[in-house]
Amino acid sequence: MLDMILLEAHEEELRSVLRAEDGVEASAYVMFGTVDIAADPWTGEARKRLVSHQVIPVPDEDRISASGVHVTWSTRSFVKLLKKAEAGGMTLGIVHTHPGSHAFFSDQDDRNEANLLQIVSNRSGPGYRFASMVLGGDGTICARVWTSPGAVASCQRVLVAGRKLVLHGVARGAVDEMLDRQARLFGPDFNPVMRTFKIGVVGCGGTGSPVAMLLARLGVGHLLLVDDDTIELTNLNRVHGSKRSDVENGAAKVDVIAREIRDAELGVHVATFKGWVGDRGVRDALRSCDVVFGCTDDHDGRLFLNRLAYFYGIFLIDMGVRIIPASNDRPYEMAARVSVVGPAAPCLLCRGLVDPIVARDEALKRVDPGEYERRKEEAYVSGGGDPAPVVVTFTTETASMAVNEFLQGLTAFRGAGGMKFERRRRFDTVEDRSSTCLPRDGCEMCASAGVWGRGDVEPFLYRIG
Ligand SMILES: [Zn+2]
Ligand SMILES: [Zn+2]
Repeated sequence: MLDMILLEAHEEELRSVLRAEDGVEASAYVMFGTVDIAADPWTGEARKRLVSHQVIPVPDEDRISASGVHVTWSTRSFVKLLKKAEAGGMTLGIVHTHPGSHAFFSDQDDRNEANLLQIVSNRSGPGYRFASMVLGGDGTICARVWTSPGAVASCQRVLVAGRKLVLHGVARGAVDEMLDRQARLFGPDFNPVMRTFKIGVVGCGGTGSPVAMLLARLGVGHLLLVDDDTIELTNLNRVHGSKRSDVENGAAKVDVIAREIRDAELGVHVATFKGWVGDRGVRDALRSCDVVFGCTDDHDGRLFLNRLAYFYGIFLIDMGVRIIPASNDRPYEMAARVSVVGPAAPCLLCRGLVDPIVARDEALKRVDPGEYERRKEEAYVSGGGDPAPVVVTFTTETASMAVNEFLQGLTAFRGAGGMKFERRRRFDTVEDRSSTCLPRDGCEMCASAGVWGRGDVEPFLYRIG
C-alpha cells in the first residue's frame, strides 16, 4: 500500500512551472520525504507514504525535447538528485503534464521510465528508486514509484493538502443509502471520499468526543483516537457517550468513544491509543493519518502535533474553548477558536497559542513527576489551581466549527478560498471572526519551507530530549 500527500503549495508551484505553452508537455522534479509505516493502525499492515518536500525545475540545459505527447531530458541532473535523495532518505520524483487530458501513465511513459531506471542501474548500480507523477490538464493527478527497472507500485491515492483538501484516485463506490442525505448536498463523490479518509482525533474530552462522533456520522472510514485519560465524574457533563458506570469502571476515554462508535455500526474502523500523543507507540498510527484534529489543552502535546503537521504534511485542525465567568467588574468572556496548521500556514507557536514554558512543565510532570512536585512546591513550575469552568454546549459547538472547517476544505461550501487558518467565535457577544498572523522570523516550522514534507528523519521530528 502506497499513498502520497502533495502539499498544496507544491501543487501550485508545479502547475506554474509546468504551465504548458502551446499544449507542450513540460517536466520538473519533486523531492519527496519518505514515510515508512511498519503497521497501519487499521489493517496492521506495513505501508509507505511519500510527502512532497521540494519542487525543483529541470535545468534548461538538461531539456532535450518536448512535444504535445512527450518530454525527455538528459539524465545528468536526474542522477545527481537521485543520489542526493538516497543520501537523505528521500525519494526523487519526476513530474510531467498531459495538458490535453486527464492524468494517466501512457505506454510511452512506461517505456521511458523503465529505460530511465535501467540507465541509472547500469551506470550507478542497482537499488535506486524514483517516483513519477502526472498532472492532467483537467486538474487530476496520478503517481507511482519505480523500485527496479521492471517493478512499479502505483499510488492508490494522492491527497493535495493545504487550505483545500483534494483527494485523487478514489473510485466511486456504490451508493450508500445511509449517507444519502449528505450526498444530496455535497454530491455523489462526497461519501466515497469520506470513506477513504484516515483521521486522528487527539484528546477525547469535551471537544474531542463530539469531533469523533461527528466524523463517524459523516462516514469517515478510519478514525484514530488518542488520549491518556480515564473518565472521571466531572467529565460526564461534556464527554459524549460517557456513562456513570464508566467512572466506576475507570474506563479509558478512547475506549468509551470507540465503544459508542462501534455500537452504532456506521461502518467506521476505529483504532485507539491510550497514552500521550508523543509516545513512540503511536507514531505509526499518527503518520498513517491524513488530517489530525487537535482536541487537547496539553501544550506539549500540541507542540508535538504542530511539528508533525509540517514534517508530514498532515494538517492539524486545532481547537480551544476559553470560558471566563462574569464577575463584579467584568462580563462573561466565552470564546471558541479553530486553527488550521500546516505548511504555508503560520504555526501554533508563532500564533502565540502554545506556551513553551507550560509545555516544558508538562513534559517534566510526565517524565519525572517527583521532581515536578518538588518544583511546584517551590513555585518554579506552572500547573494546578482550580479547574476552568466548561459547559457541553460550548465545547460541542467548538467541535462543530472544527469539523465544518474540514468540510469547507473538502467541499468549498463557503466559497473557493478553502479553510480559514484561524476562526474565533465569541459566544457571549455572538461574533464570528477570522484572523491571521505572520510567521516569526527564523521559525523553523513556518517561516521557511525547510522541514515541510521532510517525512521520516532521525531523531523523529528533529525533536531532541
Ligand atoms: Zn506522459
Ligand atoms: Zn512558526
